[in-house]
Amino acid sequence: MTKYVYDFSEGNKDMKDLLGGKGANLAEMTNMGLPVPPGFTITTEACLTFLANGGAAPPEMLGEAGEHLGHLQETMGRNLGDPDDPLLVSVRSGAKFSMPGMMDTVLNLGLNDESVNGLAKQTGGDMRFANDAYRRFIQMFGKIVMDVPSDAFEHALDEAKERKGPGTQDTDLDVDDLSALIDRFRAIYQQHTGEAFPQDPKDQLRLAIDAVFSSWNGRRAVDYRRQNKISDDLGTAVNIQAMVFGNRGDDSGTGVAFTRDPATGEKVPYGDYLSNAQGEDVVAGIRNTLRIAELEQLDPAAYTELRTSMDTLEGHFRDMCDIEFTIEKRKFWLLQTRVGKRTAFAEWVMAFDMLNESLIPADEALMRVDANRLEELFKRRVDEEACAEQGIEPIARGLNASPGAASGKVVFSADEAQEWAGRGEAVILVRRETTPDDYHGMIASQGILTSAGGTNSHAAVVARGEGIPAVCGADAIKLDFAAKVFSADGTRVAEGEVITIDGFTGKVFVGEPPVKESELEEARQGDAAARERKIWKAFEALMARADTVRRMRVRANADTPDQATNARERGAEGIGLCRTEHMFLGSERVEAVQQMIFAETESEEQAAYDVLLPLQREDFVGIFRAMSGLPVTVRLLDPPLHEFLPDQVGLAVEVALGEERGEDVSEQKRVLQKVNELHEANPMLGLRGVRLGIVKPGLYAMQVRAICEAAARVKKNGLDPRVEIMIPLVATAPELSQMLDELQPVAADVLQREGIEIEHLEWGTMVELPRAAVTAAEIAQTAEFFSFGTNDLTQTAFGFSRDDIGKFVGMYEERKLVPANPFVTVDIPGVGRLMSFAAAEGKAANPSLHLGICGEHGGDPASVVFCHRIGLDYVSCSPFRVETARLAAGQAAVGESESASK
Ligand code: ADP
Ligand code: MG
Ligand code: MG
Repeated sequence: MTKYVYDFSEGNKDMKDLLGGKGANLAEMTNMGLPVPPGFTITTEACLTFLANGGAAPPEMLGEAGEHLGHLQETMGRNLGDPDDPLLVSVRSGAKFSMPGMMDTVLNLGLNDESVNGLAKQTGGDMRFANDAYRRFIQMFGKIVMDVPSDAFEHALDEAKERKGPGTQDTDLDVDDLSALIDRFRAIYQQHTGEAFPQDPKDQLRLAIDAVFSSWNGRRAVDYRRQNKISDDLGTAVNIQAMVFGNRGDDSGTGVAFTRDPATGEKVPYGDYLSNAQGEDVVAGIRNTLRIAELEQLDPAAYTELRTSMDTLEGHFRDMCDIEFTIEKRKFWLLQTRVGKRTAFAEWVMAFDMLNESLIPADEALMRVDANRLEELFKRRVDEEACAEQGIEPIARGLNASPGAASGKVVFSADEAQEWAGRGEAVILVRRETTPDDYHGMIASQGILTSAGGTNSHAAVVARGEGIPAVCGADAIKLDFAAKVFSADGTRVAEGEVITIDGFTGKVFVGEPPVKESELEEARQGDAAARERKIWKAFEALMARADTVRRMRVRANADTPDQATNARERGAEGIGLCRTEHMFLGSERVEAVQQMIFAETESEEQAAYDVLLPLQREDFVGIFRAMSGLPVTVRLLDPPLHEFLPDQVGLAVEVALGEERGEDVSEQKRVLQKVNELHEANPMLGLRGVRLGIVKPGLYAMQVRAICEAAARVKKNGLDPRVEIMIPLVATAPELSQMLDELQPVAADVLQREGIEIEHLEWGTMVELPRAAVTAAEIAQTAEFFSFGTNDLTQTAFGFSRDDIGKFVGMYEERKLVPANPFVTVDIPGVGRLMSFAAAEGKAANPSLHLGICGEHGGDPASVVFCHRIGLDYVSCSPFRVETARLAAGQAAVGESESASK
């Protein structure tokens, strides 16, 4: 038979599924011998049965609850609501996860017009206290169980205080005031519910339990669960617990405490205490609270007991605990504990301290920090507290697209951004949205602000990749490019005026609000004082642990020597993706690229390659130097050629206008014709990647030559270039094998001519099309490595265009039509399945095949764990994510051995 009710002495902390978080920990504390008022828990299973039966409690549950209540009455020597000597209880909801929006707690249940006198009698005739408890009960019961608008009670309470004169607090109301208030509250109750306030304690209890159960399906709770991806079929437990009273005078009170400071992580008690108060009063801000340390003077004995309990709990849970307690007439009671929430900063400090205190072992300390929150610790942020104090308000809000705060002068075009930055100005690039043409200006900016576009827009993706703060989709911003101004919230901002954006919060400010620097970033850059701080020591210690235990290597996606150096400083062990497209940008190169595109004869085309070759070679020399001794995967040109030509529509307009004015537009017309020829309906699925290499064989040959000549040069300088050449967008094995048949001799030729041997020269492909994944065994015959290009693989597996799904991906996530945003975390059942299939088949066909990932997912902790599971050799991510990936790879290794030993 199902057991629906557990006494606190029957449960423990591992029973959260059944008893809810609150109930399981109340049981744990009870069994630890800590002072917890006795009580019992009705299980989440009872709740689910109740809901499945359309709101009828299972009869067995009612019977069991009656027995447990009887037992509680015996223990307390009092009966629920007894007119002479009442037992009062609290009815507390508690699901597995703490969940705002669920039904709150009802205190003082069991009071009625008669037992209120009994309560006074128990407390030596303290009728004021009894009345205070009763008015609270009517208020809570009305509001929580019967949905009476809480304003009605608040309003009546305020009136009562006002009648007593200005500055009156709830504690100033005397016994008669409270008595009048009780009458008033009962009338409010009757008016809103159409019934008299229930006098039978058993009715009160039944109604309260039903209300807790029903609240699981309340609108607010359902919304909260959806938002936070909590399952709907957990249900909530109900805890019924004997009351203790913090509102019995100045020698009583209630408080909340953390065993360590949840903001800084320091090992100091932290929290608030309010005397002569009950329950939530301490957090409701009704009166000024005391700091927890001040309780020491007020009540040294209770304070000592609190501190001892804190130590006991921390030792027991081996973590920072968050505690609720009450002092009744100097007697200390614990009412709740849970492992406390903390800031990203505190999490590192605590894990490090607890490791040093030998409270937890090293691997556990490593698992205690959240890789998802590491990157933010390296960024400065707008100081919200200081802003609040100084009354500084943002003028607009957008999406928090890339973390960090940045200030600079507003510019409205990428060219201006580059030009101003060249003069040493800090600039913020403001656009409606950005395109690949804006790249040069974006990387020259301190920050990027767009008025359209989502968290996966071009601006957001580039900004995150480059570690530049960005706020996107701030649609309150009205741009006027012609006048070079934007306006928001009635403020006009012209070109050259300073603004600040905060990519953590999405806020946009005029001028420079106070910011908080990142201690970790200061230390990373070598600041000696910052390196003495605990956060840095914690970072070093836990990262060292991650590096020791991880199996996967971590590389970076980097296209320039600067990025490569940055990545190396952050611990990258190679470059997993060096894109070459930017090497085709810049005025002198674009001309040659266009010449290549327009060439009508082979010699014209060759002439263009002759211009490009030395430029590319220089680019590669810089990168191989920066990464000497570490592998560099160079991807041959991937994007469609039209990206290097002027925009079709703009050009057509130019031609039409010129013709109308009778100007000579023959050159523009020639370009337009070519643009029209190259125009594709679906460029992302068009002539790009390996297809480009096949159609323009000289292009890839030129790139391979530049790579090999650069490697030879670097090698001659005594360095150690390690080269991996990657062919993008392969769908069929012959595409790769024919390409390699053409390109490998080019490489051999260069190396022979240079008289140089490169020990590490590998040829491979990106696996970024479903067909490549499915035919991995064939492709692996000629490939020495696979690198999963999960951005394109996600696009092509779902048939989603990353640039276009912004409009509906949010709804898709909300309605759980996709597991999570698949462009952030690898879609494990779909795209992930393709990956694991390709990895396994590829490895089976070619055991020496190397496996990596270079899509943006390579820096996403959950995806990194997945990559570990399917046996990849490395992940490659943006330089700014390298630490995150190292940490996640370490955690993946620990997680695997933990689950293996279970
Ligand atoms: P929440 O989940 O919102 O924190 P709780 O069930 O913890 O709700 O209760 C709200 C407040 O009432 C807390 O401050 C808690 O300590 C207090 N409280 C709950 N039960 C009792 C009790 N039996 N005696 C005294 N105070 C209680
Ligand atoms: Mg609580
Ligand atoms: Mg791709």
